[in-house]
Amino acid sequence: MHDLIIIGGGPAGLTAALYAGRSRLKTLLIEKMSLGGQIILSPAIENFPGFPGAIETSKLILAMQQQIEELGIEVKTDEAIKIAHYSGFKVCARESEYQAKTLIVSSGACSKKLNIPGEEKLMAKGVSYCGTCDGPLFKAKEIVVVGGGDKAVEEAIYLTKFGSKVTLIHRRESLRASKILQERIFENKKIEILWNSIPQEILGGNFVEGLKIKNLKDNRIRDMACSAVFIFIGIHPHTEFLKGLVKLDEQGFILTDEDMQTSLDGLFAAGDCRKKTLTQVITACGDGATAAFCANRYLEMKGL
Ligand code: NAP
Repeated sequence: MHDLIIIGGGPAGLTAALYAGRSRLKTLLIEKMSLGGQIILSPAIENFPGFPGAIETSKLILAMQQQIEELGIEVKTDEAIKIAHYSGFKVCARESEYQAKTLIVSSGACSKKLNIPGEEKLMAKGVSYCGTCDGPLFKAKEIVVVGGGDKAVEEAIYLTKFGSKVTLIHRRESLRASKILQERIFENKKIEILWNSIPQEILGGNFVEGLKIKNLKDNRIRDMACSAVFIFIGIHPHTEFLKGLVKLDEQGFILTDEDMQTSLDGLFAAGDCRKKTLTQVITACGDGATAAFCANRYLEMKGL
């Protein structure tokens, strides 16, 4: 029996583990892949306080990992698939079952899909959701990026390192991305923006050869040649294993109060898997710290 199980080892989970370790809670962190979460797909973080310029993501995650190792936090590679609640919590995972008095879910999110013809078939054959992973495969090729948020704009700029040209396709006439990123994309000569447009189909046999694009103003549809389509249209939370146990919003994000407490007493949530205003590494870390503090307070108040 652990005092605390943390599900998910991104910045939220790692920070929760740091605070739980310092409170001397017997803590287990379960992560289905490698520590770091979604952010590991970005090469650097420019807006983490204390690092002028940027901090390499891998360095930041490694430092967080070292901090929890120094505190003796147990880390297991496993994937939670169901949670049972009795007086405590039982986490049923692929490899094993684990029990704890309290739980923090920091299971993060993954990229949303466009769900258009060709997307599934050409995945990893030119369709990608990660510039860092796949950008180098498209040296001197024409690249399309879909989306208008921070992620799409950041990745479009990054992909100009490789592509001969990058076209950003956005469904509206203004970007959602922060102003500093907008300034950078507008001054980048290798990027063209197609406004009021959505991809309707990704074309290609064995590899991506192009796109069918619809202009939402005049409804005209045209074909455009390209070798890669990078899709960054938002995130989908990893919360399927919580359905029926805690309150989720219509998109599956976990509802919490400001103490990170979910609708089920003793179960806390932190980071991108919960409904929140700002999904950033720094806010995920803040969530993790609050969740661990409140989980510890919950154990003390219940005398557990
Ligand atoms: P996001 O902010 O939700 O933006 C998603 C973009 O995709 C929006 O421009 C949206 O258009 C568009 N979109 C959504 N569904 C679409 C569809 N079916 N077809 C075409 N376009 C569609 O998502 P994100 O950029 O992945 O970022 C997720 C979170 O991480 C955000 O909170 C973001 O601020 C944060 N983030 C921050 C940084 C940073 O600070 N450096 C970097 C990356 C991510 P509309 O604008 O019309 O809705």
